[in-house]
Amino acid sequence: MITLKQVESWLIEANRILQEKKAYLTELDQAIGDGDHGINLARGFQEVAKNLSDQSFPDIGALLKSAAMTLLSKVGGASGPLYGTAFLKMSTALKDKAEAAPEEFARALAEAADGIQMRGKARVGDKTMLDVWKPVADLAVQQGDRLFWEALLECSRKQMESTRDLEAKKGRAAYLGRRSVGHLDPGAVSAHYLFVALSNTMTR
Ligand code: ADP
Ligand code: MG
Ligand code: MG
Repeated sequence: MITLKQVESWLIEANRILQEKKAYLTELDQAIGDGDHGINLARGFQEVAKNLSDQSFPDIGALLKSAAMTLLSKVGGASGPLYGTAFLKMSTALKDKAEAAPEEFARALAEAADGIQMRGKARVGDKTMLDVWKPVADLAVQQGDRLFWEALLECSRKQMESTRDLEAKKGRAAYLGRRSVGHLDPGAVSAHYLFVALSNTMTR
């Protein structure tokens, strides 16, 4: 079972990694966007982590809902509403749950990926965060009653890397057309970090 405590640890670990990678994410966004992705996410997750230390939550749904609201209000840009939607969908899928079975958690990830897709209207291959979210969530659903973190992480890394050779079809990078090829998508990289954080948390 995945516990409330583990979900809390996930977000704290995500914040740790995003603070560490803030400059790198910003550099990636300078190449094909407006150079604020690292700053946006570092600000949002800093606030999420702060709220976790100030407050306690009765269940996973409530915790994720609070994180979603914080991301919606603090991140801004294109990624704020997208990450906010992802966490909001997860919170609904895990409403009132003090712990979640692996398949329930996988389903929540799939809801999050669908939420990103619905909100941003991107498809896999458009060089966005969805290129990481969707295949990782699909694989988690396929794995069923046990989640294999190593395989999920490998999928996430591979998908992140795949964005380098793609032409951006959504977001600011799409204005560059072919010139976006050869650069990693910043949102795909930050999405990968969320899954690195999840894997770190679940395997320690
Ligand atoms: P902004 O582009 O407004 O400055 P950020 O820099 O924080 O926002 O986030 C950029 C990231 O958001 C991109 O790298 C991409 O992964 C993601 N993104 C942008 N538009 C979409 C979309 N329509 N669907 C999915 N992801 C998107
Ligand atoms: Mg940006
Ligand atoms: Mg911006």
